[in-house]
Parts: sequence; structure tokens; C-alpha cells
Amino acid sequence: MIRVPFLTDKRVVVLGLGKSGSATLRALVESGARVTGWDDNQAARDAAQAAGIPLADPLALDLSEVDMIVWSPGIPHTFPQPHPLAEAARAADIPLVCDIELLAIAKPDAKFVLITGTNGKSTTTTLVAHILTSAGIANAAGGNLGTAALDLPDLDADGIYVLELSSYQLELTRSLRARAGVLLNITPDHLGRHGGMDGYIAAKRRLYDFIAADGVSVIGLDDAPTRGIADWLLGAGHRHTAISVKQVLDHGISAPDGILRQDGVEIFDLTAIATLPGRHNWQNACAAFALVSAVGVPSTAIAAGIASYPGLAHRQQLVGTKAGVRFINDSKATNAEAAEVALVCYDAIHWIIGGQAKEGGIASLERHFHRIKHAYLIGDAAPAFAETLAGKVAFTQCGSLDRAVTAAAANAQAGEVVLLSPACASWDQFKSFEHRGEIFRQLVEALPRVEDAAPSQTAGRPQ
Ligand code: ADP
Repeated sequence: MIRVPFLTDKRVVVLGLGKSGSATLRALVESGARVTGWDDNQAARDAAQAAGIPLADPLALDLSEVDMIVWSPGIPHTFPQPHPLAEAARAADIPLVCDIELLAIAKPDAKFVLITGTNGKSTTTTLVAHILTSAGIANAAGGNLGTAALDLPDLDADGIYVLELSSYQLELTRSLRARAGVLLNITPDHLGRHGGMDGYIAAKRRLYDFIAADGVSVIGLDDAPTRGIADWLLGAGHRHTAISVKQVLDHGISAPDGILRQDGVEIFDLTAIATLPGRHNWQNACAAFALVSAVGVPSTAIAAGIASYPGLAHRQQLVGTKAGVRFINDSKATNAEAAEVALVCYDAIHWIIGGQAKEGGIASLERHFHRIKHAYLIGDAAPAFAETLAGKVAFTQCGSLDRAVTAAAANAQAGEVVLLSPACASWDQFKSFEHRGEIFRQLVEALPRVEDAAPSQTAGRPQ
């Protein structure tokens, strides 16, 4: 746990009692702050009360006595509609921050490496942490992924915090100064929360406010919004390292064909790494290479770390094979862009899709429909997806995931894949994408004659 002694005796409100809020409360109590928590959800309040957390409705408090509000990044504070406490806090000039800010203030001399982007954050974060660990460098990874910021261990000065940051967290952070950070990519997401694409891009661009003057700013060049930010970095005189999987870069890290190059010079081959299938993962590997180089890890150690990366559950994870059919859990693909990067990795796909659709549904994926042998529709999005697929892809309305797995397993032939890459949020039928992926894994395991996923099997045809 990270202690926050600068808040001893201060009056602090924590809004949102999920994972990060609860960790923040514990750290504040432990540090002697006068803290109360609140959550608009009664069940969350009941759980907090049972855990002995002091609760108080912040809207009923005299805010002139409050020194700081620690805001759970998931709660809207500007768009689409600000929470009333955000408005009251602004009127009373009380700082609204997230737990990342507290970590930054608590550890001003710590080494930070930051990762953001629309897609690939968790893969890159865990890959960076894995490379550091395999190079013998103490580190702790968390933030938006896994461990909440204030639940991270209190590392010594040479340890490295590897932080995955969402656009929401970037908006609520000020004091972070990192050794290196990457913005991987930007595609439309969470637009309602940022008042549109410009707001989303501005939130992501804040990453570069948090790179120390002698740190390394890494940026993807493969989409128009990040290219715009790269131009801005140039104009602002920021030293930066570009990455691309669309072109060979004479200056920067690139891997358009899966061969990772530094300043155009071939370093190593990513195509044989089964746990990083597809061009999108090469982007993540390029980013990880640039970040760990920036903290002094030599190329040979980076190559060894990438080669032994175990992969991340729910991201194109091979969970079983049956009679030559591979079952791939890509439950984390909660939007069409994420599903697209999996679709391009396979040729004959039994595609399980559906859940709570994002804006635009799966219409943008039409150019990959020729890869789909059959689609199996589940969840709320099923009627809309059926309309998009009608006349183009054979499909079955399955309703539930178990019926979809059974039907796909019965139809698929040797050499084909059954791919859960739902292009949807999971909340209509599951607690989370992890829950959905875990149920998929269990359903696959329960199928007759499923062999275990062998680590040597390739998880896809790299593109
Ligand atoms: P995040 O943490 O940003 O959500 P993850 O690493 O968990 O990203 O990957 C989520 C999904 O996004 C993956 O299952 C994959 O389909 C897709 N993805 C991963 N990396 C990239 C990337 N660099 N570009 C585009 N899509 C990606």
C-alpha cells in the first residue's frame, strides 16, 4: 500500500467505492486523513459500511471544510452530465483528483512508465512489466488495469511503476512526472464522456504533460489523431520516439511486417511469438520496446522478455482445441475496432458476437465478413447485428453464450476457429468482460474431447 502523509489530518472525500475508491480510502485512513466515502449506489455503500468505511453524503457536507475530493474516474464530472458534486466542488474551488494523482504526490522521486491509448493498454502494460521483471528490474504494474494505484507496493527508488492510464484518469491527474510514456492509438470511444472526439483527443494528449523534461515521449503514428499529436509534439519541441506498424521508420520503432526495427535496423522477429498474434500486438511490442529502452534495458534483454511473454487472458487467448478446431477467447474486444484486429488474424471463423453494442455496431467490419463461416448472435445486440449480417453472413440467433458455444462447436471443422470476439460490452448478460471470457473458457472445457491449449500452438496467422 502507498501511504499519503501529505493528507494526514486533512478532510478528504472519496467519491465512488469501487476498486480504486476502496483502495484510496484504506490508504487515507492508514495515513491519518479525516476521510469519508460515498457512492450513489446503495449496494456499494452497504458493502463499504460492512467493511467499516466511514460514509457521508458529500452533498450534505460543508464543502468549505473539505481539502480534496478523490474522484473515481468512472463517474462523469463534465460530460454528458456532470455529477452535482463536481459542480459544487468547482464552485468551492476544491481540487478534484483521482488516485493516480495521490500516487504521484506520494512518490515524487519514483520512476514511472505510462501507457495509454484506445486499445492495447493492458497488453502493453503487462508486456512492459514482464520485460522489466525478466531483466531483473523491480516493478509494479497497475492503475486502470489490475491493482489500483494506492494498492501498489511501496517500491524503492530504483523500482519502476508501470501505469495503465485511461482518458478519465489523465483528466484527473496533474503532478505525475514520468521517465517514459506512450499513446498507442486513438479511435472513437467514450465520446459521451468527453463531449466528442476533440475532448477525447485532448484528454489523451494530456499524457505528454506527465513526461519529465528528460523523459521519453513515445507515440503511435498509425492513425490521424495520434499523427496530429505527434506534429504537436514536434512543434512544442518535445523529444519523442515514434512507433508504427504501417511503415518502416528511419527514426523510431517499427514493425510493419512483424520484424521489429529500431531506426530502420532489424532487431528481432515478432511473427513467431504466439502470445502476441497480429499486427495490433506488434504495435504493442514496438511501444513496449521503446518504453523499456527509455529506462535502460538493452535490446537483447528486451527480445528475451518479449519472447517469454505469457499473454493476457481474454485477449485472443487460446483456451482449447477440439478435433483441430481452436477456441479463442477475445472477450476483451468490447468494440468493433478491437474485434477487427482479431478477425484479420484468422481465415475461417465461427464468430460469437453480441452483448451491449457500441455506437455503429459491427457495420464497420463488413470488409472482413468474407472470413466468417458462420456467426452466432447473443445478447441485446442480436437483432441489430442480424440486420447488418443479413444476406452477407450465415448466422444463428443463439441468445446465450452456452447455446452459441454448443452450436459453433458442432459446426466448426478442423483448421477453423471458434472466436468469441463480441464487439460489445458484456453487462447485459455478464458481470464483466472477464466474467464472459471465463464462462466461455468453462463452456469450452466442458465440451467433449477438448485438448488443453498447448503453449506452442500459434494463436493466429500474424497479419
Ligand atoms: P485495453 O487495455 O486498451 O483495452 P487490451 O490490451 O486489453 O487493451 O486489448 C483489448 C483488445 O483490443 C484486444 O483483445 C485486441 O482485440 C485489441 N487490441 C489490442 N492491442 C491493440 C492495438 N495496439 N491496436 C488495436 N487494437 C488492439
